[in-house]
Amino acid sequence: MIALTRKRTKSGRRSRPRRRQEPGWRQTLRFSPYAWAKLKFLRDFGGTEVGGFGISNAHDLLLIEDVVMIDQVCTPVSVEFDDASVADFFDDQVDEGRSPEQFARIWIHTHPGSCPSPSGTDEETFVRCFGSADWAVMFILAKHGATYGRLKFNTGPGGETQLRRTIDYSAPFAAADHDLWSTEYARRVTVLDPFAMRHGTFPDSDVRDFRPDSPDMGASCDDSPWNASEWVAS
Ligand SMILES: [Zn+2]
Repeated sequence: MIALTRKRTKSGRRSRPRRRQEPGWRQTLRFSPYAWAKLKFLRDFGGTEVGGFGISNAHDLLLIEDVVMIDQVCTPVSVEFDDASVADFFDDQVDEGRSPEQFARIWIHTHPGSCPSPSGTDEETFVRCFGSADWAVMFILAKHGATYGRLKFNTGPGGETQLRRTIDYSAPFAAADHDLWSTEYARRVTVLDPFAMRHGTFPDSDVRDFRPDSPDMGASCDDSPWNASEWVAS
């Protein structure tokens, strides 16, 4: 039997037991062990940011069972998804029987540094590319494990809440597959060195300024969120 005792203060009076602090979280974003292991593997495979979409359980949309990468151009401070690859991903997911709520609502990317907080560019991307969906999640995994998650509702009165992150071991899950994941990484990720680019290593047609504050960023979006090519997250 465990007895709870109250400590005495210096004055000899018993102190009040500390009330457990209520966390500010209202919702929890859960990852299957497979999805979480894959996300960490992809984060650490190269030196840049990488991104993708979370694939949700059909009956529990805040349970992520896989993380799927899109063709992307990455630097240490940015990710840009390829529009055609996003379209292909959508087609493939529909063909596999999933609804858009399962594959197009949870945007995930990594930060090579230790800070998971979204940048101004992240916020702008979240609004522009996910603002037309009923709801969407932005989730960021930083280098040493710190995470940031936010669920945003765009319908009705709107609203948003921060998300706690946890790993859900309650259901059966697949084993890690580093060969498969590294193949996916190699197929999807193109790494660009922005410093080399600025020094003219790349052909003129490929030269773009990938600094987050570049006026290039966000300059070419149109009405369709999936045609907006600035999948940039820094
Ligand atoms: Zn970011």
